[in-house]
Amino acid sequence: MKYDRIMIRYGEMSLKGRNRKHFVQKLKKNIQFMLRDFENIRIESKWDRMFVVLNDEPVDYVVKQLKKVFGIQSFSPVLKTEKNIDAIKAAALHLVEQAHSPGNTFKVSARRTDKTFEYDTNGLNHTVGAHILINVDDISVNVKKPDLKLVVEIRQDAAYLSGEVFHGAGGFPVASSGKAMLMLSGGIDSPVAGFLTMKRGVGIEAVHFHSPPFTSERAKQKVLDLAGKLAQYSGSVKVHIVPFTKIQETIHKEIPSGYSMTATRRMMLKITDEIRNQREGLAIITGESLGQVASQTMESMLAINAVTNTPIIRPLIAMDKLEIIKIAEEIDTFEISNRPYEDCCTIFTPPSPKTRPRLDKIITFEEKLDWGPLLKEAVDGVETIMVSARVKKPENSIEDLF
Ligand code: ATP
Ligand code: MG
Repeated sequence: MKYDRIMIRYGEMSLKGRNRKHFVQKLKKNIQFMLRDFENIRIESKWDRMFVVLNDEPVDYVVKQLKKVFGIQSFSPVLKTEKNIDAIKAAALHLVEQAHSPGNTFKVSARRTDKTFEYDTNGLNHTVGAHILINVDDISVNVKKPDLKLVVEIRQDAAYLSGEVFHGAGGFPVASSGKAMLMLSGGIDSPVAGFLTMKRGVGIEAVHFHSPPFTSERAKQKVLDLAGKLAQYSGSVKVHIVPFTKIQETIHKEIPSGYSMTATRRMMLKITDEIRNQREGLAIITGESLGQVASQTMESMLAINAVTNTPIIRPLIAMDKLEIIKIAEEIDTFEISNRPYEDCCTIFTPPSPKTRPRLDKIITFEEKLDWGPLLKEAVDGVETIMVSARVKKPENSIEDLF
């Protein structure tokens, strides 16, 4: 006997009455996608739970993948048995025998959705608990802080037993609430901003500004690698690489140096907004954090933001760098972001960018030139790369990890 399925408990989405059906469908599709390398898996979705039926696929790798799926509150590998007390006792004993080491404590925690079952939750706790105490050496009960918590759930169709609860990633299923464009640099912040927005159910496509030969292929690869990390949460991420050299050179020539940073950001935002429009996105995401650098003061944001009415999501706006780094480490982007690279902005950064640019001034400076053809050329020259995350099923898997 071994775990034959994984029971998935939904997260916050259970609060969203009317949207629930849509969320559950989306979650099912996302799980299917994340587990697409495991051909034998079947997914059964119910109103309040979902089951991944393993059909002998390796439970440890499936668990690893499920930890990255947004919309899951928690999940447990489970054993499905007949709804009769002898079968339940046998399965419970089997699970405890597998997991237990001498001196361990345990607790049985029963739940019923089928209230007609012959035992109530107390009766189940006692009967199953007694069976384990009689049959396992050197084990005792501890209801407050057990080493092993055996959950027995009596549902309409069968009984489900589990011994371990894994935390899910929380949030909402990715792409259940539309799509937004993530302005992805090679820095630490923007991948974290993308991750946090995906967690709220938003699908993302990334936009990256690249200025060859001032920025190298390595810098581009770095961004693709970052996108690859984000793709772990959605299966894949499209990256739109914008050729930005000409615009940066023009800004460098035509705009007074104190304002070149503001102009650069404004052009980036305009182009991103045009790509968003073409791709039918609903918002733009950036990694801006208040006060971090010259372009992230309130005055700067006002001057930059003035080019569009599109909602701009800034998940990091009030976070400290250390908080951001902590998340970057958790999602495994920190090391990639720390690779040395040339940022298209740092290369052209003037010695003293204005920290309090004025909107009227930047508009006046920009008006001296017709930016339309340059912007169009950049948008037309976009190269789109699809970055996928694939988890290969191991040849020899460790079947009984639990
Ligand atoms: P990050 O760590 O994300 O690079 P940062 O602290 O370095 O952020 P800035 O360089 O001012 O801050 O960039 C602010 C935001 O502008 C970034 O978080 C990102 O969303 C966007 N951005 C900056 N450079 C680029 C780029 N080359 N391509 C796409 N977006 C960019
Ligand atoms: Mg940066």
